Amino acid sequence: MFAITLMYFDSHTHIQFSAFGEDYKEVIARALASGVGLVNVGTQRDTSKRAIEIAHEFENEPVYATVGLHPIHTEKSFHDAQELGIGEKAQEFTSRGEQFDFDYYKKLAEDKKVLAIGECGLDYYHLGDDTKKKQAEVFIAQIEVAKAVGKPLMVHCRNAFPDLIQLLTTHYQLLTAPHPGIAHFFTGTIDDAKQLLELGFSFSFGGAITFPPRKGKTEGDYDAAIKYIPVDRIFSETDAPYVAPALHRGKRNEPAYIIEVVERLAWLKGVQPEEMKAQIRENTKRVFRI
Ligand SMILES: [Zn+2]
Repeated sequence: MFAITLMYFDSHTHIQFSAFGEDYKEVIARALASGVGLVNVGTQRDTSKRAIEIAHEFENEPVYATVGLHPIHTEKSFHDAQELGIGEKAQEFTSRGEQFDFDYYKKLAEDKKVLAIGECGLDYYHLGDDTKKKQAEVFIAQIEVAKAVGKPLMVHCRNAFPDLIQLLTTHYQLLTAPHPGIAHFFTGTIDDAKQLLELGFSFSFGGAITFPPRKGKTEGDYDAAIKYIPVDRIFSETDAPYVAPALHRGKRNEPAYIIEVVERLAWLKGVQPEEMKAQIRENTKRVFRI
């Protein structure tokens, strides 16, 4: 349950990644001291398991986990030292990718500190046509895990919204009603948002929404989507260690920086920051059932 002092919620972060290997406890303590609860999101076997271990290290705190296989790890994989470190094991993992093991993930997913399944979905940015079929299969398998344990999906989608929406529509019967999941770091169009809203999805936004408009533009890249999506379908995230908000841009991101994201969301929705905070708390309780 939410502690009285919990004001903010980072619904997508990765404090179990190598980038926080030395100081993850301090980073989480800083978040909690700022009133920020958080969900460490798994991306493959080890980061999923580690997310659960950390959630139990902070047993009575609002520190949670998700478990899943990121689409970029379904085949010969994109290597990110911030995620996996730089050792031999990390290199070996990225050269072979991971075979999705339904039973392994289902067992992890049953843990009471696990709030959702993912991040899972489709990513056509890092990987090309040859992996599309594999990504779809692994995504469907994770939709089945979510159904089996009755938890929502934490969806990652990059350059693949038409295919993602088609897959979700085809497998609509398998989605966990009435809140099938969250499209994290949403980068789609207004039409993509409309279709995902109709499927029952929510959306989370992070540090990138605080960046000034690109040269020649009058609006930030995410402003139109945020203005369009109803306030009861909006979540806040950091996606740490990536994409720190404007005041910390270029540095390692962390959950305590979520406050800047929530202030920007409030401004774009034309509400007071207090109201935005309260709304996100409501959304978090409703979708994650905490
Ligand atoms: Zn992520």
